[in-house]
Amino acid sequence: KGPDPDLVAIAERMATVKHKILVLSGKGGVGKSTFSAQLSFALAEMDHQVGLLDIDICGPSIPKMLGLEGQDIHQNDAVIWRGPRKNGLIKQFLKDVDWGEIDYLVVDAPPGTSDEHISIVQYLQATEVDGAIIVTTPQQVSLIDVRKEINFCKKVGVPVLGVVENMSGLRQAFTDLKFVKPGLAGEIDATEWAMNYIKEKAPELLSVVACSEVFDSSKGGAEKMCHEMGVPFLGKVPMDPQLCKAAEEGRSCFADQRCSASAPALKSIIDK
Ligand code: ADP
Repeated sequence: KGPDPDLVAIAERMATVKHKILVLSGKGGVGKSTFSAQLSFALAEMDHQVGLLDIDICGPSIPKMLGLEGQDIHQNDAVIWRGPRKNGLIKQFLKDVDWGEIDYLVVDAPPGTSDEHISIVQYLQATEVDGAIIVTTPQQVSLIDVRKEINFCKKVGVPVLGVVENMSGLRQAFTDLKFVKPGLAGEIDATEWAMNYIKEKAPELLSVVACSEVFDSSKGGAEKMCHEMGVPFLGKVPMDPQLCKAAEEGRSCFADQRCSASAPALKSIIDK
């Protein structure tokens, strides 16, 4: 029996793609697609040619996060597909799409370790994968699943490039804060009053960034887990309402002054 013709075709197609990076997460909603999109924007802004492949076939977010909504996107309503059909589509993406000469192919995978992961890893075996970046939030519930993700990578021989702790604390420009005064019938908007008070009494506060811990990270978060599991920790990205807005609007956050609470953290991770 000769070599699998699909793998041969994938290897040929991928020969023009210099680097392949998988972005994984144990759970959904931790910011994996946001990170994939911002990573792709950052690489493109460094003058690299970048392809971004969303293999979350049942719940793709990338078109929106790249600002491609409304363009000619082939989309099937409410995809409910079984494994073999998803595998077929992933194979097609790797084998039949003319990616051209590109520096990076970023692959945004669905959360967990499902059929799609096994197929993408199998297909990419035909070529060389740089490795996987795993995105998590600081809570233990998310970290437990990250351990599974790391073990999956070890088992299938995909190097773990590192773990990103996203939504690590909340950072917000002081001037974006909303102040409320608890009242008898619900909360009363006290923002204008508070801002006037601050302008008068302590104007230096207006250039300060407010930080708060949202999730319990007393057990050490992702950094400690990385240390225990012997994989690199890439850094923390705070929860930043402006980053959320940039993602919702399909924009890069790096050249955006408003994203000053999160862009430097993301940039330092990507530089690594
Ligand atoms: P996943 O791909 O892991 O399911 P998403 O990237 O879709 O998660 O993120 C879920 C939501 O959280 C999105 O609305 C996104 O804009 C928002 N989000 C992600 N990371 C951050 C962050 N650091 N600060 C604020 N909002 C964020």
